[in-house]
Amino acid sequence: MKRDSQNHLSRRTFLSGTIAGAGLITLHPFSAQAAARQAHLRIMETTDLHVHVFPYNYYSDKPDDTVGLARTAAHIADTRAEATNALLLDNGDFLQGNPMGDYIAYERGMKEGDLHPVIKAMNSLGFDASTLGNHEFNYGLDFLMKSVAGADFPVVSANVVKERGATPRADTTLLKPYVILDHHLTDGSGDTHMIKVGLIGFVPPQIMNWDRRHLEGNISTRDIVETARAWVPQMKEEGADIIIALSHSGIGAAQHSEGMENASVPLAEVDGIDALLTGHSHLVFPSPTYDGFAGVDVAKGTLHGKPATMGGFWGSHLGLIDLMLENQGGSWRVVMQEVSTRPISQRNPDRSVSALVDSESDVLDSIRAEHEATLAYVRRGVGKTAAPLHSYFALVADDPSVQIVSIAQSWYVTEMMKGTAHEGLPILSAAAPFKAGGRGGPEYYTDVPAGDVAIKNVADLYLYPNTIRAVRITGAQLKGWLERSAGAFNQVAVGAVDAPLLDPSFPSYNFDVIDGVSYQIDLSQPSRFGPKGEPLNPDSSRIVNLTYQGQPVTDDIEFVVATNNYRASGGGDFPGAKGDTIIFEGPDTNRDIIVRYIVEKGTIQPSADGNWGFKPLPGTSVLFDTGPKAADYLGDLKSVTIEAAGDGPDGFARFRITL
Ligand code: MN
Ligand code: MG
Repeated sequence: MKRDSQNHLSRRTFLSGTIAGAGLITLHPFSAQAAARQAHLRIMETTDLHVHVFPYNYYSDKPDDTVGLARTAAHIADTRAEATNALLLDNGDFLQGNPMGDYIAYERGMKEGDLHPVIKAMNSLGFDASTLGNHEFNYGLDFLMKSVAGADFPVVSANVVKERGATPRADTTLLKPYVILDHHLTDGSGDTHMIKVGLIGFVPPQIMNWDRRHLEGNISTRDIVETARAWVPQMKEEGADIIIALSHSGIGAAQHSEGMENASVPLAEVDGIDALLTGHSHLVFPSPTYDGFAGVDVAKGTLHGKPATMGGFWGSHLGLIDLMLENQGGSWRVVMQEVSTRPISQRNPDRSVSALVDSESDVLDSIRAEHEATLAYVRRGVGKTAAPLHSYFALVADDPSVQIVSIAQSWYVTEMMKGTAHEGLPILSAAAPFKAGGRGGPEYYTDVPAGDVAIKNVADLYLYPNTIRAVRITGAQLKGWLERSAGAFNQVAVGAVDAPLLDPSFPSYNFDVIDGVSYQIDLSQPSRFGPKGEPLNPDSSRIVNLTYQGQPVTDDIEFVVATNNYRASGGGDFPGAKGDTIIFEGPDTNRDIIVRYIVEKGTIQPSADGNWGFKPLPGTSVLFDTGPKAADYLGDLKSVTIEAAGDGPDGFARFRITL
């Protein structure tokens, strides 16, 4: 493999025993120490690549040292060289999740015989096998089958069923449930042995809900553990010496429950499985994230004593399981094991990021044309917006840049509630302006003019890679949620002139606007909550005239609220959003949902519906600082009485609002 530059960073960083820059590789101790009839087998895992091959963020249209299989590939080259025997496996979620994936699915398409770029890149690295992740189903079965047809390696999946039998072993599965590879294993004395390596794959059965429109009537799924218990003995019967589970499922509860999404811990208890690749959660194992989980040993990197790894996401890490195998009486056993991961980048104390490896140029070259085509795709319009999408006034009036996020979230969650116990409840949507000046400065605003919307604009609309959630809450909790948001403002005395409006310590991402209900904010009252969500004036109420479809919201009426993982799991400490009200956890990013919404609708109508505003206070005015470009849009702002009031500090422009 060629390097992108002469900087052999990976070797310097990870192989401290070698002479820096000399390019020497130190054998792993298992390879160095293996005796006759002992062999070191290294298992390398990539997981949740989500089409990230180039170290590039296509949303921001900038290089990104934290992602990319081309970078992980540098670790693959090194770790292969350090081991006498190695297998390279991918754990699923490779087809979808960045604009390159959308470009292929929505624009270029997959004709018979086409090679998907991520498959091309994987082929260039010589993967031994892969499994399907839940996101492989996002673009439909036809797209999936054409894509995996191009793989030079087997793709296995045991619990995705085309024709259901009485038991899993009687199923006709969509792909091969497992493979048994004949692998040439070199032992410590240099002799070669044939070893049978069994590889079996699993995906969360929840794909049937997440991609119902593509899958219902075409396939079904089975419980991960039930499926493993059925097939693993058959793999043993067929002579598998060792069995590795490719579990596109997270590390969660130790207790098995039917249909569980994150089933890797109970899966590890299935007899016959020797090692597990895990994923889906976009986390790293071993890591302190999993301290204290039942059945999990973070120090040893094991689940119920069996070695397991999780290599982050988007190519961020290579997961490594090292096995020392020994031939005892004709069969191979694991006698020593070691688990680790290798990151491609590090976060420095000043929050900057440093690359730890260079890209492998062969991998970049394999899909350079598709990379260029994706750049062109993200830079041109994929839809149109009838109204400008900017956030200059998002903190003082209902605003299209927040409205579009709410609309797309409601659209998605409405679909997901169909057929559930929550169907029929009113669906609201919570969204906050992420880019609204503040410490980001006077240019730090969302600003997409009316007309073409390009994919790269969507990053501007939705800054964070959050994933979609829905919570089920009461009217009382809804009111509390809005009271928490209303802490963004200073208390204003009735009759005050030019009072400062915004509390500068309140971050804009905590100013949730909830769409689907109407309300006013009474600034004359003190905030119920402090800036961190701590109770300040528990009896105070700034939210007034809160109505749903023209009727007052009662304390016990119930709502479904579409939001994101950060808020739903307690981020910002909002009433009704502390982790115990979640009824739906979607695998899709809010950003992807906005892209899908725009692509599907063609032209979006993000006009704010004016569902919230300030309660009029006689003879009272406030000052509000925003970006100077706000002046261009002043005339569009119908719901607020606003006028220019000169310059604010630090390049901001000042406006006066008469309440
Ligand atoms: Mn994933
Ligand atoms: Mg609205």
